[in-house]
Amino acid sequence: MNYKIKHDESEGCCLECGGVLNGRKDRKFCSLVCKNAYNNRRISIIRKYKSDIMSRLSRNYEILESLLNDKVKNASLEELKALGFDDSCMTGHSPGRRKHEECCCFDIVYYRSENKIFGLRRLTIEK
Ligand SMILES: [Zn+2]
Repeated sequence: MNYKIKHDESEGCCLECGGVLNGRKDRKFCSLVCKNAYNNRRISIIRKYKSDIMSRLSRNYEILESLLNDKVKNASLEELKALGFDDSCMTGHSPGRRKHEECCCFDIVYYRSENKIFGLRRLTIEK
């Protein structure tokens, strides 16, 4: 998927239709219709991007939670990826101890090495 938002700041051209702009130098759109179309598309792309990330986080969470329910604390990244786990998607990250990255997916924490996760556990969230 390509989420790049085009920022063609060609001077004198409408960002939406590319039409020639007249008037103030800082004008970006030829009309309100073009301005709204451009902004609506931009908002839609960002909304889709956020939704895709939330879907991947939810899938990761389901997989990690399933491992915890089965009392599994270690798993290979290869096996996890086969289940749909996206190891680039997490809600937190720190260098961790013993040179392994500490990652979290909401309240589930784990260490990650090059080819596996281990020390899988759930954080205690206090109110
Ligand atoms: Zn235009």
